Amino acid sequence: MSTQRTPARNPLARVFAEHFAEGEVAGVERVAPTMLRIRIASPELDRLSWEPGQHVRIQINDPLSLYGIVRPKETLRTYTVWEFSAADRSFDVLVHLYAPEGEGGIGLAWAREAAVGDRVVFWGPRGDFAVRPEAAHHLFVGEETATAAFWPMVRALGGGAEVRAVLESESEEDEPPFPAGRPAVRVHRRGEPAARSRTLVDGLAGLDLPETPGAAYVAGEARTCQMVRDHLVSVRGWPREDIRTVPFWTPGKRGLH
Ligand SMILES: Cc1cc2nc3c(=O)[nH]c(=O)nc-3n(C[C@H](O)[C@H](O)[C@H](O)COP(=O)(O)OP(=O)(O)OC[C@H]3O[C@@H](n4cnc5c(N)ncnc54)[C@H](O)[C@@H]3O)c2cc1C
Repeated sequence: MSTQRTPARNPLARVFAEHFAEGEVAGVERVAPTMLRIRIASPELDRLSWEPGQHVRIQINDPLSLYGIVRPKETLRTYTVWEFSAADRSFDVLVHLYAPEGEGGIGLAWAREAAVGDRVVFWGPRGDFAVRPEAAHHLFVGEETATAAFWPMVRALGGGAEVRAVLESESEEDEPPFPAGRPAVRVHRRGEPAARSRTLVDGLAGLDLPETPGAAYVAGEARTCQMVRDHLVSVRGWPREDIRTVPFWTPGKRGLH
């Protein structure tokens, strides 16, 4: 796999070049048995900005190469920026190791093989998965990949915001970190699939919510996101426009965005 930046040889390549940046892996840390925190340092962060909830697309194979043109789904993988430090010119992503070694797609292989000093080409940060600070209260619902996105969003809300969360993981050991002092109901799949997850919806069904709807942020597997939204709309009476769902992956689809 190549993460080298391609010199802009033609006008199309130049357009692409304006939208991506180079960096290198500056740290790899296992924060849970199935969660890796990967730090990427880049002098180009001086010209880039980031809002909590935004993601980068890691260029694992060059989309403009022959390989990338033939296999466009095997080029980019998306990870939410976990922490961003303009001062240190670095950012972190938190990657869920959802399958055992030797299985999974190119994103999983990239994360498992990441080592300090590896060159990384990334697109972004970009995206509009943002908190709505004006909402009366905030509800975060998702599994491991979503929790990676929720961390910076919850921190952006500040200490005064009323936050609730239902967070799914495979087991207690696999729980991704969540900002300290924030109430989170943790639910565990224990071998059940994360797709169409009853575990997550049942966890939400047991949660006490205020009478008045707030803002809900739902991410992770596409059909689980729909089930969570359906529960909030049909059982809790929340307006659809108060529920933001962002599908991150789904069985059978490669590199969802
Ligand atoms: C906006 C956005 C933000 C994202 N942020 C994060 C993040 O912060 N952290 C993170 O870990 N991921 C995040 N993802 C998901 C990530 O981009 C990849 O989809 C994921 O890492 C899988 O990539 P892959 O190449 O290994 O598998 P792919 O080739 O994309 O998928 C192959 C197959 O693997 C299976 N699969 C993929 N992901 C999972 C999973 N989590 N659990 C079970 N089976 C799975 C599916 O059957 C899929 O068809 C985000 C996605 C989007 C769209």
